[in-house]
Amino acid sequence: MFEVSVEDSFAAGHALRGYRGKCENPHGHNYKVRITLAGDELDSIGLLYDFKDLKQAMNQIIDRLDHQFLNDIEPFRQLNPSAENMARYFYQEATSHLQQATGGRVKVKQVKIWETDSTTATYFE
Ligand SMILES: [Zn+2]
Repeated sequence: MFEVSVEDSFAAGHALRGYRGKCENPHGHNYKVRITLAGDELDSIGLLYDFKDLKQAMNQIIDRLDHQFLNDIEPFRQLNPSAENMARYFYQEATSHLQQATGGRVKVKQVKIWETDSTTATYFE
């Protein structure tokens, strides 16, 4: 199997509903995201998936969230904007992009979100 990953970062605010503690109040993070793809078949020039295309796909997801208050944006109006739920959101969005772009040749393996330098959440299926 082959894997490729790209990382990017963005800034956003959130408030965790139902959390008993400081994170219940609105506050911000500089998030980092890593999307990892996997597949066992390379394309005709030896790439699993062009880093540039993966960065572009990631930017489209990030553009919706960057410098926003996440609780005001779907799907986080109902879904708590925890790092875990954000990781799953990136996974789902990237998966639908990759399905369209590669017809299933390349899959999203996992998404990792850093909420701080020392705290991460990962989603995979
Ligand atoms: Zn937070």
